[in-house]
Amino acid sequence: MHKLFTRLALPTTLLLSTYTAYYYTQPKDQIQHLPNNSSYAPIMAWRCSGRTNAELIANLYKSGLITSAHVKDSMSSVDRAHYCPKRPDSAYEDSPQSIGYAATISAPHMHASAAESLLPHMPENKGARVLDVGSGSGYLTHVLANLVCGADGKGDGKVVGIDHIDGLVEMSRENMRKSEEGRLLLESGKVELIAGDGRKGYAEGAPYDAIHVGAAAVEIHQELLDQLRSPGRLFIPVEDTDGWGSQYIWVVDKDNEGKVTRKKDMGVRYVPLTNRPEVEQR
Ligand code: SAH
Repeated sequence: MHKLFTRLALPTTLLLSTYTAYYYTQPKDQIQHLPNNSSYAPIMAWRCSGRTNAELIANLYKSGLITSAHVKDSMSSVDRAHYCPKRPDSAYEDSPQSIGYAATISAPHMHASAAESLLPHMPENKGARVLDVGSGSGYLTHVLANLVCGADGKGDGKVVGIDHIDGLVEMSRENMRKSEEGRLLLESGKVELIAGDGRKGYAEGAPYDAIHVGAAAVEIHQELLDQLRSPGRLFIPVEDTDGWGSQYIWVVDKDNEGKVTRKKDMGVRYVPLTNRPEVEQR
């Protein structure tokens, strides 16, 4: 019994302490988006990295971090390296990467989780409207566009990405133009990348079937709820009031009658949804 305990406990302790050490030594913007309600998910996440985009997505699918074939196909058709201009060599790691301006492109498993949560409200080629708040690199905006418009971009749907850093909005447009499909999405207006305060949503494009927020809010902003269609879903990380700086994903549904229900989901770590900085620092 004692031997069995040593055999199991020692490797587990080592693994967890390695993770804890990694977690606490990373700059905050580098560890955002790792679900922190389970020590299991990040360990899985390390194993999901690949040498190519196809390998990264295949590993996420094999590990169960992507469960929908539709999300798998949409993520496969967007090369993450196009959206990691600062760290192209690390683009196929399942971890956040710096994109400058104190922002990061989120970890692929977190993008997958958001896309899967919103999927029931994003049917392909049915004219679904989606808002991506804190669009940053533009990667998820492109994946969401593939979900509603199809990988060839020919279907009927529209995604608006909004970020409050002008430099990032310009960078996200450049990133999208790196592929023919991305360029067509921009030129056709099926993807719009705009500068603005995402806490206010983007009323011009409302109502939205699905709204994704990629930075941690202090509250579930009423403007976002107002701009949600009936039915519709909002996926938003929100700062907790526990005083420990915890954050949780909230999945907020508006039903056909306009009734709103809020569900607290997994613990996460995102950069904050803030006021626009006075000076943009690259
Ligand atoms: N989904 C993006 C995440 C980028 S990090 C990606 O994976 O690339 C979070 C982003 O939120 C940053 O780009 C930051 O500029 C943006 N942000 C923070 N507060 C904001 C606000 N009030 N309005 C719009 N964007 C905001």
